[in-house]
Amino acid sequence: IKSIGVLTSGGDSQGMNAAVRSVVRSGLFHGLKVFGVQRGYYGLIHDDIREMDLRSVGDIIQRGGTILQTARCLEFKTEEGQKLAADNLRKHGIDGLVVIGGDGSYQGANKLSKLGIKTMGLPGTIDNDIPYTDFTIGFDTAVSIVVDAINKLRDTMSSHERSSVVEVMGRHCGDIALYAGLASGAEAIMVPEVPFSIDEIAARMKANFDAGKRHSIIVVAEGVGKGEDIAKQIHERNGMEPRVTVLGHIQRGGTPTHNDRILASSLGDFAVRRLIAGESGKACGKLNGELVTTDIDTVVNTKKPFNTELYELALRLSQ
Ligand code: ADP
Repeated sequence: IKSIGVLTSGGDSQGMNAAVRSVVRSGLFHGLKVFGVQRGYYGLIHDDIREMDLRSVGDIIQRGGTILQTARCLEFKTEEGQKLAADNLRKHGIDGLVVIGGDGSYQGANKLSKLGIKTMGLPGTIDNDIPYTDFTIGFDTAVSIVVDAINKLRDTMSSHERSSVVEVMGRHCGDIALYAGLASGAEAIMVPEVPFSIDEIAARMKANFDAGKRHSIIVVAEGVGKGEDIAKQIHERNGMEPRVTVLGHIQRGGTPTHNDRILASSLGDFAVRRLIAGESGKACGKLNGELVTTDIDTVVNTKKPFNTELYELALRLSQ
């Protein structure tokens, strides 16, 4: 392998830049030519590909977003689109490709690997919904943002003796809600992975308030439903009037935490080394402290296991 490309695809996340920087500099360190592809698979199809050097990834490790930009590209889902993408890569002499993105992007990488391009996936999403890695790049930062927001809400909630429903992102995965909820002492955490009873939560909130609790924070994963609807259902049951906060895309921005930068840096370099070793159609992850590769087929067909132990801990501590 002499030449590799790198792209970011799907939803962006904090730390994607640190991953791009790591792929580029590690590739150059190992004597490879490295190309950056703009706007994910869209840029592959439209040949928006340029050579990167050491300086082209300077001053980005601390930035959110992605300098390579990202896109959702329907054309790439077709066989013609994939063939065009592979042809463009070959035209530049690129034989390996690092794809930083979520599971949709992984499936794209898998298709390219079947067309003879050596591909490696890196888990770039705030949702933490990718299996075979403990954490995805961006998750730690997103959780920090939610925790910080809840700290602020708590200040004002306790002055006014109010309750708050906070809706967080994560798509079908409850990890942002779980980790942020536990870290901020939420009274209830609603995630798609665990059934819950609004009756029970509403009754508990009321009982706690009557017993002198000054504020309560309910964290709702978007995979469960809208914060607004949950607040309404609580109101109908216990008469309280929880204020609703929807954090939205704020969770995807801002400077990445050191955890995300270090994860991105380790995984980027690892992906390059596995490509050089001849692997393809794999996703890189950090599992129990160890860098590992797993077949993309397996990764996209496996549901991320939910951390029931943490969930139960959060429940025990929320009294
Ligand atoms: P994410 O990577 O964050 O899950 P998407 O699901 O939107 O985001 O996927 C990003 C891009 O990956 C899509 O716009 C498309 O170009 C490509 N992609 C997604 N699914 C497939 C698939 N089954 N086959 C080929 N390409 C795909």
